[in-house]
Amino acid sequence: MVTIVLRLFTACSHTSQFPKFQNFNQTDTVIKSDEEWKRQLTPEQYAITREQGTEPPFNNKYDKNNEKGVYKCVCCGNSLFSSYQKFDSGTGWPSFWQPIDKTHIKYLEDGDRVEVRCNRCDAHLGHVFDDGPKPTGLRYCMNSASLDFVKRKKMAKK
Ligand SMILES: [Zn+2]
Repeated sequence: MVTIVLRLFTACSHTSQFPKFQNFNQTDTVIKSDEEWKRQLTPEQYAITREQGTEPPFNNKYDKNNEKGVYKCVCCGNSLFSSYQKFDSGTGWPSFWQPIDKTHIKYLEDGDRVEVRCNRCDAHLGHVFDDGPKPTGLRYCMNSASLDFVKRKKMAKK
């Protein structure tokens, strides 16, 4: 048992375990106080994006959403994921094999998992795992409550 715990700890403290997850500096960061976020977001959105919560699987907004469009950060509007990179992982959460732009998200080590956040406003989005489909082999497991879906038709009008 001790050996297992030690091995886990060693694996967790090893940042080179995730060399493919590179963070980029963001120049237009959005910083707001907890009070400001609370006013802007629903209690569920706040609990997930600002307090690293997780919504229930299957019973969420975008798990089964197959419409074409862009998933933006619910906090700051940063474009995060596209429907073209969405797939049904069977986990009950909206899953993507790649973000729209690698500079729009950032990675944090979270125990033996890798947490994914919005690189502009630091919103917690979900986690990324290495059991996704080709071509990346990655599975970005996201919370619907962290995302704001904008349909393609609507986007074209803007
Ligand atoms: Zn954001």
